[in-house]
Amino acid sequence: MSAIIRVGPVFGLFSALPLRTPGPITWVTVLTTIVGCAGSFPGPESCASCYLIDTGGFRLLLDVGNGALGALQRYVSLERIDAICLSHLHADHCIDMCCYCVAQTMHPDGPRSKIPVYGPARSAERLSLAMGLEPSTRMTDAFDFADLTPGTLEIGPLRVTTAYMNHPVETFGFRIEHDGQVLAYSADTGPTPELVRLAAGADVLLCEASFLDGPDLVPDLHLTARQAGEHAARAGVGQLVLTHLVPWNDPAQTLEQASATFDGPLTLAGSGRQLLGPSGR
Ligand SMILES: [Zn+2]
Ligand SMILES: [Zn+2]
Repeated sequence: MSAIIRVGPVFGLFSALPLRTPGPITWVTVLTTIVGCAGSFPGPESCASCYLIDTGGFRLLLDVGNGALGALQRYVSLERIDAICLSHLHADHCIDMCCYCVAQTMHPDGPRSKIPVYGPARSAERLSLAMGLEPSTRMTDAFDFADLTPGTLEIGPLRVTTAYMNHPVETFGFRIEHDGQVLAYSADTGPTPELVRLAAGADVLLCEASFLDGPDLVPDLHLTARQAGEHAARAGVGQLVLTHLVPWNDPAQTLEQASATFDGPLTLAGSGRQLLGPSGR
């Protein structure tokens, strides 16, 4: 403190700082917020699957599992979502669409603008049944549904490529590209080369790791953490974020088993964690 007093005015402090050569200015162009990452059912620390991808002017929601609608409002108003992608119609990835429908159609200021929803075939019908709306147009009053098929489509400024995953129901994995940045998401899947292809060279792979090593694992349903690491290594991803974490698993074991097969940056997903695009690092 006495040194500061000796140099006098605040300008004296600044002049003591070393000059810096201006470097390149980088901007964050994609911010991914992990809204929920609990696998199969919500846990005490996280709701089920939900990821918010924000390019600054466009917000895409990836899956809307149990409890997601509440947690999502910590980060963004429900009215400011521009599009939604549903990986599949298991409840832990889509069931809060039923509550979202209420928020869209029953707002005191009148119905909200329809949100485009890209999902498996018959998503509107299946979600209406889950909501007890038969027959009703309420789900389609709230959302504009489009069937996903494997391939590439543009959603706002995002290039979204989908492929079938290895799961008992129609399930899509995602590769989302924006401004040279790539995020891949496994959704729910057993081992599949399609995930390796989809995630090839991605900056970040959000990969499910529902199972730990053990005998009698159900085939073609989910990945073990070790298999998640194998897929990430074969895809050559920049970093692996393990997600769809089932509450009864030991997170330390999940991390340890994945680290046996993937030697790059490796972390566990957590509700509220945010991933910056590479240009923002
Ligand atoms: Zn799931
Ligand atoms: Zn599933």
